[in-house]
Amino acid sequence: MKIAFITTEVFPYAKVGGLGDVSSALPLALKSLKKEIDIFMPMYKDIDKKAHKIRKYNHWKPFDIKIGDKSYSVELFRVKLDKKVNVFFIYNEELYNRSGIYTNTEGKAFKDNHIRDIFFSKASLEVMKILNLNYDILHTNDSHTALIAPYIKLVYKDEEVFQNTKIVLTIHNIGAAYQGICEAVEIEKAGFSYDLHYLGGPLEFYGKFNFLKAGIYYADLVTTVSPKYAIEIQTPQFGEGLDGLLREMSHKLVGILNGIDTNIWNPSKDDLIKKKYSFKTVKKGKLANKKELLKEFFLKDGKKPLISMISRLTAQKGFDLLESVAEDLAKLDINLIVLGTGEKNYEMILSSLMERYPETFSVKLKYDDKLAHLMEAGSDMFLMPSKYEPCGLNQLYSLAYGTVPIVKGVGGLEDSIVSYPSEDSTGFKFYKHDSLEMLEAIKKAIDLYKNNTEEFFNLSKRGMKINNNWKKSAKEYVKQYTELIK
Ligand code: ADP
Repeated sequence: MKIAFITTEVFPYAKVGGLGDVSSALPLALKSLKKEIDIFMPMYKDIDKKAHKIRKYNHWKPFDIKIGDKSYSVELFRVKLDKKVNVFFIYNEELYNRSGIYTNTEGKAFKDNHIRDIFFSKASLEVMKILNLNYDILHTNDSHTALIAPYIKLVYKDEEVFQNTKIVLTIHNIGAAYQGICEAVEIEKAGFSYDLHYLGGPLEFYGKFNFLKAGIYYADLVTTVSPKYAIEIQTPQFGEGLDGLLREMSHKLVGILNGIDTNIWNPSKDDLIKKKYSFKTVKKGKLANKKELLKEFFLKDGKKPLISMISRLTAQKGFDLLESVAEDLAKLDINLIVLGTGEKNYEMILSSLMERYPETFSVKLKYDDKLAHLMEAGSDMFLMPSKYEPCGLNQLYSLAYGTVPIVKGVGGLEDSIVSYPSEDSTGFKFYKHDSLEMLEAIKKAIDLYKNNTEEFFNLSKRGMKINNNWKKSAKEYVKQYTELIK
């Protein structure tokens, strides 16, 4: 079985959120299951070619592809991820010679993102054609590469190299801002017939062109990153306008919970934390990391329960709930630390919380992978009040690090955390997007931490014992791929 994993983020080369983690961990897990797999991703300016030993692909002759009337040259680079999985990087000077992955340094989305997605999707297929790489499965991800499905079904359908190729599309986030919506004039530019832009047709979405919709329509299999989210996106509340189509396509929709890369997120092996620890040494280990973490955030009181958040700062992540109960949180005798970057209004809200309640809140507005590891290791609890959460990785990392998650019971958070009190509880859940409900859940967690420490650590240890290794999820993907190519 030969698979191409086509994605716009791969850790450690370029990562904005969970997609970056999944795009390295899943291919590596598939490789360890003896599957042949290559990754395709764009070559961004910020990728450190030298540090990662990324080289120009030998004997490659750059060629042009057309988008509308304009020609774009395709250059190719390559490296082996972890010395195991081949990664092809696709480059075009005009589209990728700029800082940022989807946004500029001010956090504003690039105006030509749809052209970059068309280019990358088309160029990946052209590279496969030229190098005669006949994959059984093209595994595409989110709106960025969703057009590969209609390309294969409509434009490349007679190409020899794709005759037996099946298309999988994984939805990591169906949020309207991530659907790849642009004006209908782009349909012909992308190389499709405008005839498919009829009301309710596969290339029509409220008069516009929607890449994710087209992908869902033409893919052979649509997956999403947790079973619960697969159900939720078929409802108007979570489907962001695509729920009708997803209900129609439910026969080819499955949810597979993401895993974690236990070589990277593992407190007994983690070089990025102050003190490594295991299940047996969790109390001592976490305390040493907590001390270091408090220093980083200029906080002193190690006795206070320490709650962390690491997140993109967007409406999805529920920061609005934090603001409305800030005063109540400040009265709780806790420390709440936040690491994140994103939308300016949330950065301002968080900074003002820190100014108003310096004894409680401490915030770092940056992207810092090392600090993220220390936060998982040194915190007592981890808060995720997401409005919606396709899978969520930080609650899985928290479980692995014995940090007790407090989450909203939605999407992957609902699938991965069992709420206290229960025989197998691993965390605390609340269900309504309501700040008082969140506050109640936090109070419950703190109460247990302070008044029944032993039971609190039972939750923590239970979490550490759960196997969320990628291998489990990768086997699920293999099962689905096998069904498709049967
Ligand atoms: P999403 O994909 O919606 O951003 P996930 O929870 O699935 O959310 O994944 C987020 C990933 O990005 C995690 O690995 C998290 O640690 C990381 N991350 C998010 N913001 C930061 C930040 N400011 N610094 C370091 N890592 C971050």
